[in-house]
Amino acid sequence: MSLPDATPLRAFLFADPAAHSLSPAMHGAAFQAAGLAGTYEARRVPAADLPAALETLRQPGVLGANLSLPHKETALGLLDDLTPAARAIGAVNTVVHREGQLTGDNTDAPGLWQALSEEGYAWEQGGNVVVLGAGGAARAAVYTALILGEQNVWVVNRTFGRAQAIAQAWANPDAEFQVVAAEAQAVPWPEVSLVINASSAGLNAPTETPLDAAWLAQLPAHALVYDMVYKPLETCLMRDARALGLRAANGLGMLAHQARLAFTAWTSAEVPAQVFLDALVPQPAAPGDQA
Ligand code: NAP
Repeated sequence: MSLPDATPLRAFLFADPAAHSLSPAMHGAAFQAAGLAGTYEARRVPAADLPAALETLRQPGVLGANLSLPHKETALGLLDDLTPAARAIGAVNTVVHREGQLTGDNTDAPGLWQALSEEGYAWEQGGNVVVLGAGGAARAAVYTALILGEQNVWVVNRTFGRAQAIAQAWANPDAEFQVVAAEAQAVPWPEVSLVINASSAGLNAPTETPLDAAWLAQLPAHALVYDMVYKPLETCLMRDARALGLRAANGLGMLAHQARLAFTAWTSAEVPAQVFLDALVPQPAAPGDQA
């Protein structure tokens, strides 16, 4: 990027609501770690204001923006270009600005891929992947498992028709791996190596789960249960899985990696994932620190 040294670098979050986002903490820490003078600001942008907000990203010094609820799908038709991942998933979580051009990307899928790999999930072992949910996060999970991971995917959702819509969007009889919409009882649980909760069930609801523990009990011992939800840090789904001796993880790793990948897309700087994770998890106070 060729900018006068004094041009401040700026990145944004456009969402509604935006106030409680953890992204400013992560990207603030990343600018510092990369030795770059930059700011990241969360802006509440109502749905009707998204086109105007995106136009502001074309200014010199603006790196781009993250998009969250309710803009990830609407943005598809408002940008100059889309990456193959954003196009296939049908959602944009990162807008990259380069010389007046805005490109929509989706770092949720490679972020999830990275997080799962760090949890020890061995993609090469093959097997079936279950995705719970049928919204934008679920589409990113399907892309991760089907395209990046080359595995069969079973989509289970409260509203079956939405799971069917995802399966239809990926339907390709010639492909080696398939996406199937299923009720829980139709899933071959003993052959499932990975369950991803991409639904909002359990979010701020410590006793709510998207999946009856009876189905978890049929998983093989090596299976991993990954919950994209990270509030609470241990969800009911994770508790149920751990009680059965299964490995389980929350969505903080994915959150950190999707931010890391967006930061690199904006700045070309490679900042370790730990910097983003440390910004998410409050550090214990050192002796003598004030509360
Ligand atoms: P979304 O488009 O609103 O979709 C929500 C999905 O959750 C729908 O399939 C919905 O089912 C299902 N659902 C909601 N409440 C449920 C309940 N009580 N029981 C069963 N299913 C329920 O949301 P999204 O953008 O895909 O996000 C989904 C979740 O992923 C959110 O919790 C979000 O915070 C999380 N997420 C995490 C990360 C990360 O980095 N860790 C990234 C992206 C998203 P219906 O179709 O029946 O309504």
